[in-house]
Formats: sequence, structure tokens, C-alpha cells
Amino acid sequence: MRLLVTGGAGYVGSVVAARLVEAGHEVTVLDDLSTGHEDAVPPGARFVRASITEAHDVLADKDAVLHFAARSLVGESVEKPGLYWANNLGGTLALLDAMRAQGVGSIVFSSTAATYGEPERSPILETDPTRPTNPYGASKLAVDTALSAYADISGLGAVSLRYFNVAGAYGRFRERHTIETHLIPNVLKVATGERESVKVFGTDYATPDGTCVRDYIHVQDLATAHLLALEAATPGEHKIYNLGSGTGFSVQEVVSVCREVTGHAIPAEVGPRRAGDPAVLVASSEKIRRELGWKPEKAELSRMVEDAWGALSGKSG
Ligand code: UDP
Repeated sequence: MRLLVTGGAGYVGSVVAARLVEAGHEVTVLDDLSTGHEDAVPPGARFVRASITEAHDVLADKDAVLHFAARSLVGESVEKPGLYWANNLGGTLALLDAMRAQGVGSIVFSSTAATYGEPERSPILETDPTRPTNPYGASKLAVDTALSAYADISGLGAVSLRYFNVAGAYGRFRERHTIETHLIPNVLKVATGERESVKVFGTDYATPDGTCVRDYIHVQDLATAHLLALEAATPGEHKIYNLGSGTGFSVQEVVSVCREVTGHAIPAEVGPRRAGDPAVLVASSEKIRRELGWKPEKAELSRMVEDAWGALSGKSG
């Protein structure tokens, strides 16, 4: 297929773009490099440096879009909500209108567990209430709502994948944020000597060891889900799937696994809770397993940390 991958210079987008190229698709990456890196665009993909509001011409000959380009920092979204509404919702509406104008009928959208907010139960099902607790999650949920409307009105075939915590790497394609807020990259920065210690945000949660529990999914398993979602896009339907490994790991457990994998002591300090962090976020991925036959192959946290560490220390090719 001829595919447009928006945000294909970012972490998840670059891994998916690489897998699509390997699967024989003709891939064009559209990215404004506001947070991505041009050298993350995989060889074999065409690169267009532009915003998602400027996608009209590049969509002319495309069969489908995989849409990753977005602002994705929860804290920043609380400080600058307008940026999130404009980019994530406004930008996506412009993209959807350009797709409609050019007759591009399928989209796979990078949604998030943040659409659910503080869950009432665990694991979270796709039918559970969506009450985002920050503008990032709210802007992604608004796109999900828009996709349902476009599916109804214009026959768009849409699939939203709601990621939980993405980790790991694919060869050299890894997480590289200028402002790093995520746990695993921050813990590994201690092992590389870039930071002296990791701060654990809160040890007084109602969880077995008092630290927050999250569901980590390997970026390669996530990429596989995108390839399946692309095939599953059906005109006039908007399908939504959670994506996690179905197992929760606490912050303390993550730090321990990073110590084992890197052989570094990784000093940890206890800090206050981070605003807006739910105690436990674990996905039920039963629906995508059942309907699309998806199965994680690297569900062990140690595999994710090993691959992230390998890419960081230049051990993988
Ligand atoms: N966390 C932490 N120290 C850090 C970064 C994150 O203790 O330096 C905690 C954070 O409070 C949350 C968990 O690790 O409970 C996962 O956070 P992350 O930002 O990686 O993902 P999120 O679940 O917020 O999407």
C-alpha cells in the first residue's frame, strides 16, 4: 500500500514506519521535526518536513494514513492546553478533511490510555468510562470522537489504538525525547551516567509496594498491532483497541529490572507524588487479541529494558 505516516520521525512512528517499509509498503513520513529527529526516519521511506495541516498534496496518491504526530507531554498539556487542542485536535481535523478531499479512506490513530483518566477498575476495558484528567488525554479523546463521526458521515475506516506504557526499542530506533519524562529512559540515564539518581514519584499509593503500577508494552509488539489495524480498517467503522501486555509493574519493580539488566546500582530517591498520576493503569487487551489475533511476543519487562538499553549503549544494529 501507499502509506502516509505522520510523526514518523518520533519514537513509535519511526518503529512503525520501519516495519511498514520492511513489509513492502511504500511509506512517506510527514513530520515537522518539532519533537522528532530526521535521522529516525527509516531508510526506504520518503521524508516530507511539514505540519499535519499541510498534508493535502502529499495525500494525493495514498491508500491510508497512520497518524502519530501529536504533542504528548501530560505536564506541558496542563500548562499550555491551547497548544494541545490546536495540534492534536485542530491538526487532526485538518488532516481528516484533507484525507476526505483526496479520497483517502483509512486511518490508524495513535490514541492513549490517558483517554480513560482515573480508572474505576483494572484491567481497563474499551467500554469503560473515558474521563481524561488532563488536556493531553482530552485532546486525544476528542479525536476518537471525531473519528467515529467521520466514519458515520463519510465512510472513513478508522482504528484507534490506545497505548498504555510503551517501552523497548527496535534496533537503533529508540525513545529520544529532548524533555524526558518517562520512567524507563530516565532510569537508564542513571546507568549511562547522565543522571545521578532516579526520583520515585510517590511511595504512598494503594499498591503492593506503594509505587504506581503501569502496563508496559514493547514498541515492537505495538508496531505489529499497527500492521494488523491497517488491515482491519473497514469503511464506515471506527474500531478502538487497548494495547498493553496485561501485566502491571510498579515503579520499584521497573527500577529493579533496570538494575539487573544494566548491572548498575541506579540509586533511587523518593520524591512527592506527581500530579495527575493514577495509582494503577493496566489494560485489558483481550479485544485486539480476539478480533485481530494480536499477541505480544516480548511481554517480559526485562526484554523491553534489554532492548532499550541495547539501543542506548549502541549494542544493537
Ligand atoms: N515516574 C517516576 N520517576 C520518573 C518518571 C516517572 O517515579 O522519573 C513514575 C510516574 O510517576 C508513573 C510511572 O513512573 O507512576 C510511569 O510514568 P511515565 O511518565 O513513564 O508514564 P505514564 O504512566 O505517566 O504515561
